[in-house]
Amino acid sequence: MEKLRTLQELRLLVRRFAHSSEQQIGMRANGWRLKPMRSQWGSCNSKGIIAINTRLMFLPDRLVAYIVHHEVAHLKIHSHDRSFRAAVELMFPDRLILDKQLHSFAKILREKI
Ligand SMILES: [Zn+2]
Repeated sequence: MEKLRTLQELRLLVRRFAHSSEQQIGMRANGWRLKPMRSQWGSCNSKGIIAINTRLMFLPDRLVAYIVHHEVAHLKIHSHDRSFRAAVELMFPDRLILDKQLHSFAKILREKI
């Protein structure tokens, strides 16, 4: 599996997608962290800090945007309930296809990089 971008490029891309998702959702994260994670693409904690997996260096832009949007939506809705899914679908009506694509990249989470 080949990196599609450097860590610095990922940082800039996340920043750009974060901006549009925060506008769409109407919430702002209290902070953004990029860090290696082994079990998830991103996370949003109760303090409103969003962590993004550095392994997104391997993912296509659209999946990066999707993961960022998912975590920003968690600033508003903490579960994966119907209202959360609706908030995600505002920007990503093809959510189910993107979930499948993400699943196909899941082995990257387990690889040593
Ligand atoms: Zn989630």
